[in-house]
Amino acid sequence: MSRNALDKFYAAIRDVPDFPKPGILFRDITPMLLDAALFKKAVRSMAEPFRSARVDRVMAIESRGFILGAPVALALGAALVPARKPGKLPWKRHRVEYELEYGTDAIEVHEDAIGKGHRVLIVDDVLATGGTAAAAVRAVQKAGGRLIGLSFLIELSLLDGRKRLGDSKIASLLTYPKPD
Ligand code: AMP
Repeated sequence: MSRNALDKFYAAIRDVPDFPKPGILFRDITPMLLDAALFKKAVRSMAEPFRSARVDRVMAIESRGFILGAPVALALGAALVPARKPGKLPWKRHRVEYELEYGTDAIEVHEDAIGKGHRVLIVDDVLATGGTAAAAVRAVQKAGGRLIGLSFLIELSLLDGRKRLGDSKIASLLTYPKPD
């Protein structure tokens, strides 16, 4: 994508200091969602690197991952698997726990959502420390799926989330710190 096109994306991400808690610089994607042309372009760009990968399932991570994961799934002709916070899914679930700075969290997916050998792409809005995405990778493995890659709108490079994702193919449209 050209520098000019990328700059339009950066301009449509709002930086909100100290949200949801002090010290976090929150990258708010909602201004980008308000621009229909940019939103469409974001979805296309997130799907593009995986277009010929024969993806069967897009696993979208709650909750902003749903906003991007659903249209990415449609763009790839794939089905959608919501990876949810505990207690939200009504049917039999695979559960994967992961460490937070204080305590643990978990994500869950329905047991019947991914079959053996299904080709799965994971989608979320932001790759930060990689803890959430690494849990999603484990959920794919637990379900017997085959991980094709991960697609993010934003990657916070200084947090090095990539290194927790092994040698998976990782695509991110925007990176912070913003390139010169
Ligand atoms: P992590 O597990 O640290 O990679 O965090 C990833 C999850 O937290 C994603 O689902 C993001 O939506 C959210 N997240 C983490 N850091 C930020 C941030 N600075 N701005 C917006 N969302 C964030």
